[in-house]
Amino acid sequence: MFTPRELLKNLPFRIPQDSCCNCGSTENVFRTETELKDISYFVIGGVERTLKIELPFCNNCERSALRFRKNILIKCLIAFGLFWPFLGLSLIYANELPRFLANNMILFAALPAALITSLYYLTRRAKAPATSFYQPVFLKHVRYSTRGEVKGVALGFTNREFAKRVAALNTDFCEARALIIVIEQT
Ligand SMILES: [Zn+2]
Repeated sequence: MFTPRELLKNLPFRIPQDSCCNCGSTENVFRTETELKDISYFVIGGVERTLKIELPFCNNCERSALRFRKNILIKCLIAFGLFWPFLGLSLIYANELPRFLANNMILFAALPAALITSLYYLTRRAKAPATSFYQPVFLKHVRYSTRGEVKGVALGFTNREFAKRVAALNTDFCEARALIIVIEQT
């Protein structure tokens, strides 16, 4: 049985190491110490906790081990950062813009900022047989006790077969809700 303290840094789950956790390949697979991040955002700043787990990656997917998912707040911040240069441009060229755009400068700046951000993230998609451009195993949620100890984690998996194998190997952790497995196809 596990103690909450064990979950604080290195996740003690049994992970099959013979197939890539992203694409499922069994060739050129190697054990990779992977950092999973638990980030809680507040109005100002946030709290970040890093948990480590050894996961199998093949040569083609190893870079995905380092790519953390960006949540909606980060995407909004990127779009917000792009908004200001476009607003500056619209102010500089206000006289040359069609009347509709000149009268709607906020819209003129917001639309391309949102479009560029969306297009950028659309290019960051997995190419088959990979199941994820980002980490194929990632922290969805961490359960804490009132004393701040980790009671359990919910891990997201983009490879359904790999998730099933992890569940089968960790029935004790799953029953204790120290491990919650969530399959997320992206
Ligand atoms: Zn792979």
